[in-house]
Amino acid sequence: MSRDKHIEIALQDAERYARPHMDQGKVATYIPELAKGDPTKLGICIRTPDGEEYCQGDCQTEFSIQSISKTITLILALQTAGYDRVFSKVGMEPTGDAFNSMIRLETLTTHPMNPMINAGAIATTSCCIKGCADPFGAFLSLARTLCGRETIRLNKEVFTSEYQAGGRNRAMAYFMQSENLLEWDAEDVVELYFKMCSINVNVRDLAHYGLVLACNGKDPATGRQLVDPWICRIVKTLMMTCGMYDASGEFAVKVGLPAKSGVGGGILASAEGRMGLATFAPGLDKRGNSIGGWYALEFLSQNLGLHCFSGHTEE
Ligand code: GLU
Repeated sequence: MSRDKHIEIALQDAERYARPHMDQGKVATYIPELAKGDPTKLGICIRTPDGEEYCQGDCQTEFSIQSISKTITLILALQTAGYDRVFSKVGMEPTGDAFNSMIRLETLTTHPMNPMINAGAIATTSCCIKGCADPFGAFLSLARTLCGRETIRLNKEVFTSEYQAGGRNRAMAYFMQSENLLEWDAEDVVELYFKMCSINVNVRDLAHYGLVLACNGKDPATGRQLVDPWICRIVKTLMMTCGMYDASGEFAVKVGLPAKSGVGGGILASAEGRMGLATFAPGLDKRGNSIGGWYALEFLSQNLGLHCFSGHTEE
């Protein structure tokens, strides 16, 4: 194993590039507990298949995973319920609407458009329950395995805060229940969904997960296949097309990596075969994406040639 100096320098430069933009961001307040986030924090982590880890800034700081959990929920739903059942409840198309929008539920189709928005994730969450005695335990165990850390736990304060402020998510769940889309009672489904959003992670955890996705579900450190390649392919594709809220198209053009952001300030990204990346900076733009994280990833993509269409030429 050898440290890659180019990556070390790129990370330092990415922090310098991203920091000046961060004061435009605002921490999320619609979940009261998230309002406590410190907008000066910035953490960036990269993990590579040779076992190296590169950390810059606030890499130990824990934050709630929020919408990044939707990727793990989708994996669990596909493992538990299978392709046909999951995609009979949720579509595969980007919306161009806000992550918590419910407008298309009634106007276009009763099925939520994709598993990366709230309505879609609530539908996939319901696919994780049937026949499972402890669905949150199964989710937590999968999250720990993918992130490579057994001490990942529920943040009870965030969960309580989400639970109390969750009227909009409940409204979507009850609407879907009325359309027979949920496999379980709406209240139980949203409670599980809120818990899934409320586990605490840091960027080192998410970079580990991003690396597993980059290696098609295999943990390169142990050689263990943690997720089937067909599931990884679906999750990465939906991250690419729908993972950055209603800025997914712009992110695909500018950064060109499958990624998923959360309103806790985290972004998970995966560079095929090359590395897992994660950023944390709680100040968000209008669409809910972390500003510091976005700029850092944009810099790293250009500097390290990570864009999936960067047109590699043989030297
Ligand atoms: N728990 C959040 C919600 O349901 C997740 C939103 C997000 O991170 O995009 O509103």
